[in-house]
Amino acid sequence: MNLRFGILGGTFDPIHIGHLIIAEEARHRYDLEKVIFVPAFVSPLKAEIECSSPSHRLKMVELAIEKNDHFSVSNTEIERGGISYTIDTLRETREIYGKDAELFFIVGADAVREMLKWKDPEMILSECTIVAVSRPGFPLDHLEDFIPKRSSDGKPGTERVVIMEIPSIGISSSDIRQRVATGRPFRYMVPEAVWSYIMQTGLYR
Ligand code: ATP
Ligand code: MG
Repeated sequence: MNLRFGILGGTFDPIHIGHLIIAEEARHRYDLEKVIFVPAFVSPLKAEIECSSPSHRLKMVELAIEKNDHFSVSNTEIERGGISYTIDTLRETREIYGKDAELFFIVGADAVREMLKWKDPEMILSECTIVAVSRPGFPLDHLEDFIPKRSSDGKPGTERVVIMEIPSIGISSSDIRQRVATGRPFRYMVPEAVWSYIMQTGLYR
């Protein structure tokens, strides 16, 4: 069997337990060798929104995943600079792992519903399988409305996207940022080391 790799892209501002839960679930369900977390330099659909520096976001991902041997972090989008397009990251990942590697791009339902606004969505579907993860507030029951009809190599879009139902996690980075800013609790929404990092650096205050 070809080796399978998961990729979880995001802003990770900050990384939270939702990200870790979906990565671990996907790893188990699709037999992934590992899951690579890829913090964006600038997320295409968030270009106008201010976020923390790449070094803070990268550091928090490193702290969050350090105890899991099946998780790794890639700074490729940060190094590349500019707007971070998924298609570029998929191609770079394929260059590293070879043409036989099977890539699984893990995306929450909110992001999948925007897929037609991504750069080269048909091409993305021929490079990887999209793992669309359930997320409260973002129904996926009209999936075909949100994804390309076909991949650039001619497969039906619905064959290239799998839905991964998980127990609902109502946690988001934006809610955590707001909690920090207004002095409400967030401690167990992020791994302990990330909590300490946020407290020490004064991020989001
Ligand atoms: P923000 O509120 O700043 O957008 P976020 O919690 O959505 O933060 P991102 O870094 O934007 O975190 O997300 C990275 C990826 O993880 C996206 O594909 C997103 O849909 C997915 N994701 C994040 N939180 C969850 C969750 N609670 N359930 C399912 N998927 C999630
Ligand atoms: Mg988000």
